[in-house]
Amino acid sequence: MNTIYLDNAATTAVSPEVLETMLPYFTEHFGNPSSVHATGRDARKAIENARRQVAAAINAANPQEIYFTAGGSESDNWAIKGAAFQNRKKGNHIITTAIEHHAVLHTCKWLERQGFEVTYLPVDENGFVTAEQVEQAITDRTILITVMAANNEIGTLEPIAEIGKVAKAHKILFHTDAVQAVGAIPLDVQAMNIDMLSMSGHKFHGPKGIGALYIRRGVRIDTLIHGGAQERGQRAGTENLAGIVGMGKAIEIATTDLAAKSAKTAALRDRLIDGILERIPDVRVNGPRERRLPNNCNVSVRYIEGESMLLRLDLAGIAASSGSACTSGSLDPSHVLLAIGLPHEVAHGSLRMTLGSDSTQEEVDKVLEVLPGIVSDLRAMSVLNERTSTVTDEVFYRAQPKA
Ligand SMILES: *Cc1c(COP(=O)(O)O)cnc(C)c1O
Repeated sequence: MNTIYLDNAATTAVSPEVLETMLPYFTEHFGNPSSVHATGRDARKAIENARRQVAAAINAANPQEIYFTAGGSESDNWAIKGAAFQNRKKGNHIITTAIEHHAVLHTCKWLERQGFEVTYLPVDENGFVTAEQVEQAITDRTILITVMAANNEIGTLEPIAEIGKVAKAHKILFHTDAVQAVGAIPLDVQAMNIDMLSMSGHKFHGPKGIGALYIRRGVRIDTLIHGGAQERGQRAGTENLAGIVGMGKAIEIATTDLAAKSAKTAALRDRLIDGILERIPDVRVNGPRERRLPNNCNVSVRYIEGESMLLRLDLAGIAASSGSACTSGSLDPSHVLLAIGLPHEVAHGSLRMTLGSDSTQEEVDKVLEVLPGIVSDLRAMSVLNERTSTVTDEVFYRAQPKA
């Protein structure tokens, strides 16, 4: 049985073209990029080529503004801690949102224990923050604003260009976690006034364990790893050569013909969401219908547990998620679903399906064929129903677009 893989927000498959580009860098072109000989120079060239590819994908002014890291979590940690400690004398206040990835939230929590103060902006019922909220939270101690470009659970696209404008007007550093946004929406660090931007290779059909941080020229943050001169002395250690080459190729592919590819994925997403709403009663969509990641479908199915849907889908050869991969395995409902105002019961009934660039209409139709039966089976066994549940229609359908 071929798996229908609908968990692309957790990770994606390395595309064959990317793999093919990487392979020689394990064998014939294995050199240390710091070596002076031809083998080393080959490796150096490949890295600088990948740096140009990454820079082009986000319209960085200069490839030297791209620093390779070991992934999205590392980029987020570095940007936030690096900016916080570098600017400690100027102030100690950081502004973020309640729905960031844990790589941002847990970093901020840790910084609070180091004497920093963090404002976690609340979001509306679709997961949006506004630039006005950000502006109102600024104090004369604010040194960093970090707001994600796209939410990994409910697909909300935050107004980062507007937030960038506010940050620039107040001369405060602006970092965005764009791990889900790269290859999904157009990103332009210059036009959007972004000072730092986090990316991760494995979210756009590149390899795992490789990422990058864009740091605008002139922005100083603390060194992440002390050692050799790699990554302009800011992140020492012999480079992940094949990973970097793979990430460069993957980001180039992901951002070529972006508008057409996103439109195609968004059409599949809407077919999936609309199909679920048509076929299954008592379902709500989590996150907005507009300004949403083109690959993200997140629904709450009333009266049943997301986890049991996952297991049944898995048996049917369909890979989905009931939240972010990091939170599944724990009993706490997703912080994102709670932040948009869902009661615990509704948050626990959530199901996330995220498309990849290789997803097909046949796969979506197969899910639409299988899911209604799974839901009615589980509902038949559930202790929750319209009599036992304490969640009213009004609460359940909060912020749903009128049909
Ligand atoms: C996946 C993800 C990360 C973490 O990236 P890794 O490369 O897995 O460390 C950070 N932020 C968001 C929004 C993500 O989706």
